[in-house]
Amino acid sequence: MCGIVGYVGKHNPKDVLLAGLKALEYRGYDSAGIALKNEDETQIIKSVGKIKNLEEKIDCSSLIESNIGIAHTRWATHGAPTENNAHPHHVGKVTLVHNGIIENASEIKERLLKEGVKFNSDTDTEVACGLINYYYDGDEVKAIENAIDELTGSYAFGIMFEGNNNLYAVRKGSPLIVGISDNENYIASDITAIINYTNKYMLLEEGEIAVISDSEVKLFKDGKEINKEVLTADIKAEDKDKQGYEHYMLKEIMEEPILLENTLKTFLDDMSLVPDLGDYEEIHVVACGSAMYAGMIGKALLEEKAGIRVICEVASEYRYKKIIYDRKTLVILVSQSGETADTIAAMRKAKENGIDTLAIVNVKTSTIARETDKQIFIEAGPEIAVATTKAYILQVAIFGLLAYKASHSENIISEIKKLPRYVKEILDDRDRYLNLAKEIYKNNDVFFIGRKVDYAICMEGSLKLKEVSYLHSEAYQAGELKHGTISLIEDGTPVFGIITDDDIRDKTISNIEEVKSRGAKVIIVSNKLVSGYDRQIIVPKISEFFQAILIVPCLQLIAYEVAKLRGCDIDKPKNLAKSVTVE
Ligand code: GLU
Repeated sequence: MCGIVGYVGKHNPKDVLLAGLKALEYRGYDSAGIALKNEDETQIIKSVGKIKNLEEKIDCSSLIESNIGIAHTRWATHGAPTENNAHPHHVGKVTLVHNGIIENASEIKERLLKEGVKFNSDTDTEVACGLINYYYDGDEVKAIENAIDELTGSYAFGIMFEGNNNLYAVRKGSPLIVGISDNENYIASDITAIINYTNKYMLLEEGEIAVISDSEVKLFKDGKEINKEVLTADIKAEDKDKQGYEHYMLKEIMEEPILLENTLKTFLDDMSLVPDLGDYEEIHVVACGSAMYAGMIGKALLEEKAGIRVICEVASEYRYKKIIYDRKTLVILVSQSGETADTIAAMRKAKENGIDTLAIVNVKTSTIARETDKQIFIEAGPEIAVATTKAYILQVAIFGLLAYKASHSENIISEIKKLPRYVKEILDDRDRYLNLAKEIYKNNDVFFIGRKVDYAICMEGSLKLKEVSYLHSEAYQAGELKHGTISLIEDGTPVFGIITDDDIRDKTISNIEEVKSRGAKVIIVSNKLVSGYDRQIIVPKISEFFQAILIVPCLQLIAYEVAKLRGCDIDKPKNLAKSVTVE
């Protein structure tokens, strides 16, 4: 899930490329690099770690005169995060950046080695670069076509050829757009990388090859030139800024009330925009990470409230498992970016089986948005922090609306309208979360326990905490703890008890008592006070369809404060990348 940006125009590309990389750093930050080119030479500068390391290196280098360049920020899949493995890669006359995985790289490499090609890295990317160079005899498009005929896997490539002043791009599986401006054109993994320069872009479809000069963009498919619509992005440059917050994660959490208000208003004003799931005998919710946990809340609500059978499955499993489609089924794909590789594969599997698909997605131009039968857009705006917060909350809101509509329950619209204000009040009480964070940030382990829908909330609370603070945490169904995990509870181990579901309230409280009696430091997060506990976060009680939306922001802020106290890199946790475009 690396980030790619490229420029061809009148100026030296350095500033555009560095600004683009900074905007794309959420996609990976194992290493970064740029390549600048002119008639005579190609200059490549790379460095391990974040973009600032590359920037420092560039500042100390004397740069060649150039008006064309490509750049890359890497999330390593093949080969350690070293400088040698960093992109751009260069073989013969070809310089290339890549997002994706070349699955047949080792066999191609073996073949090219026999042909005498020399490789300097352990990456699949360098093999693709070598293959394009192998086919290059002066016709750039032909060389790319021949190479992609052989490559399997996923790729978005930005390519430059020696002795040629165009930028070339092609993609399959991984995203790539072509940015359009006057006398300057771009390529980028997404529009945020170039939004300071242009909001006009073309979507590159699979198998299309873009030939980009400073004054024109030509597109080829199967050897023929094709035309393409120029689109206008509706995001503004300032959407990318932190607007005074110390971290994007905090800014994005604080945006939740207004975004909820906008999203709920759109659907409550016209409930016909919420698909009726009542026609289906079975729903499969397929997603990864937090989107999957939003789906688990959806499952709990749709089953309990609307009596619809729901299977909720991690996309990386769903795509390879035997799935029995013997009922009228809808597959709901949930993905913030709409580019999550495993979720795309799951979507395509459902479609191949003739199954209806519905996307809950943020990015409107994404692959999942374009290829599903129906879409619900969450309108979260760009989410920059790697750990999702606002997009997750909106996904949960959509599941609440879907279950509410499918259940034909009494009208609760006036209650739903109170949600944004409640969330705002919850978020305003920041000291409460900081004080709790101070009590737990030095611990080694944290547990979250709850039953039914509360267990789904626990999963997200636990994931948020561990991904940003690196504090080990686990979520358990409250009744399951005593079947093994309770042996980990020691004096002072923090255990969050999540209780919103009245039906099993007393049962969860009994399980909380069990850990308390073994010395756990219990923190109750509920919509009703539980007597006998000092540490409690009590949120307003609201319709069960939307209760999770009042609990999770508290857990997001605790995760944020713990990460801050532990000195973590909150917006870019180690080893992660935001949009997981590799499987
Ligand atoms: N496979 C390439 C590498 O490891 C690109 C990785 C990616 O796009 O995440 O360098």
